[in-house]
Amino acid sequence: MTVVTRFAPSPTGDLHLGHAYAAWYAHEVAMRARGCFLVRIEDIDSGRCRPHFVARQLDDLRWLSLDWEEPVIHQSQRMDNYAKALERLRALGLTYPCFCTRAEIKAEIAAAGAAPHTTAPDGAMLYPGTCRTMSTQRRQDMTASGRPYAIRLDIAAARRTAGSLTWNDRIRGRQTARPEQFGDVIIARKDVGTSYHLAVVVDDAAQGVTQVTRGMDLFEASHLHRLLYALLDLPVPDWHHHPLVRNAAGRRLAKRDADTTLRSLRAQGHSPDKVLAQAIAAAS
Ligand code: GLU
Repeated sequence: MTVVTRFAPSPTGDLHLGHAYAAWYAHEVAMRARGCFLVRIEDIDSGRCRPHFVARQLDDLRWLSLDWEEPVIHQSQRMDNYAKALERLRALGLTYPCFCTRAEIKAEIAAAGAAPHTTAPDGAMLYPGTCRTMSTQRRQDMTASGRPYAIRLDIAAARRTAGSLTWNDRIRGRQTARPEQFGDVIIARKDVGTSYHLAVVVDDAAQGVTQVTRGMDLFEASHLHRLLYALLDLPVPDWHHHPLVRNAAGRRLAKRDADTTLRSLRAQGHSPDKVLAQAIAAAS
């Protein structure tokens, strides 16, 4: 089977050393297996993504000689595919609309006497389930009133449907899936109609990605993704969760580390090889 990997940046800024490492890693896994390296633009969040960064990011990848196979797909043009996947989950009886605002969820959690674990691995509040048991009539009324809603996955029902699952991380070995740590996670946001989790699983499957490579910061998300693969009946890849590139203070790189953007390193006269070597050395 041909090994297929991908680099999936969001066009919210210029690529920095952390991206260079992630792209190099995915490219390297594909090249070692004489496989195929793809690039996908993860631009569902129209509030944060800026189209002009797409060309700049692709230009930086070209400068690093991390050549990819065309076409580059853009998630913003694939909303129909996410809607279909969402419909399948709905038809399985595993989703429900959630009309709660963040403030309402906070108040609900506080009223329940703040449980010790109230956040998911991604920092989102663990949803107390308020809208899960709403009557059909009330759901209809709320929808008809035009109140915006997100779609949540009923995680307990989803787990029952999928049964117990494992997945393989090529660095850390076999894992037992623990998607419940996300609670009733949002799989379609109020504003965008999908979510990172749903879109990434649908697209990795559609593009035939056999090895998903990503940073350790997304390790826990893969537990949830494994569940989505099962529910959507999609072929399951292997994962690699690689180390993150950190700045001098030991923090993972962020926008404030502007001096590590590939643009600024290029402007300072660094060669592509030197930049990649620096990224690899800083990944820990
Ligand atoms: N688009 C995500 C990011 O920029 C990465 C996607 C993934 O590897 O799952 O962090």
